[in-house]
Amino acid sequence: MPRSKRPIFTVQKHQASHLHYDFRLEIGGLLKSWAIPKGPSLDPTVKRLAVEVEDHDLGYAEFEGVIEEGHYGAGPVLVWDTGWFEPLDANQGSASLSMMLHAGKLEVHLHGQRLRGGFTLVRMKDRPQQWLLIKQRDKDARPGHEVVQEYDTSVSSNRTIEDLEAAVAAGTLDTYHCG
Ligand code: MN
Repeated sequence: MPRSKRPIFTVQKHQASHLHYDFRLEIGGLLKSWAIPKGPSLDPTVKRLAVEVEDHDLGYAEFEGVIEEGHYGAGPVLVWDTGWFEPLDANQGSASLSMMLHAGKLEVHLHGQRLRGGFTLVRMKDRPQQWLLIKQRDKDARPGHEVVQEYDTSVSSNRTIEDLEAAVAAGTLDTYHCG
C-alpha cells in the first residue's frame, strides 16, 4: 500500500476518572474511536471490551498531555502506540472500512511499534456501542502475555502517566482542554 494511502491508528493511554486506552482508527477522514478499559492484548484467547466513543479529528492522533480539570476526560493522555493499518479484506480502502464498521465487524492488520498483526473488532449483539477487540492467531500473537503491562511509556516521548502528572505539578507542562 502506498505510504500516502496508509490509514493511521493510535492508542492513547488515558488516565481519566478511570484508566483506559483509546483505540483510534482512521476511517473516512476521522478517527473512529473505542475506549478499552483493560487495554489491547496480544493474547488471542483474550476478548477486550471496547466501548465506541465519539470520533476525533485526525490531528488528535498525536495528542499527548494533560486535559484540564473540569473538562471532559480530565487527566493525562500519552501516545501508547501509533502506526498504520490495513483492512484484512480483498476490497481494501476507506469505503470497505466504512462498510465493515457498519456491519459491526472490522478485521485489520496493525503495523505499530507494540501492536502488530491481525486484530478483529466485533460489535456485540443488542449492545450497539459495545465491541470486543481480539488478537488474531498469527505470528504476532503472544499467548499469556499482557502488552499493556510490559509497556507503560509513550512511544513518542518515553514518558509515563506519572511523568506527565509530575510535570503538571512542577509547572513544566501546560494543561489543555480538548474537544
Ligand atoms: Mn479517553
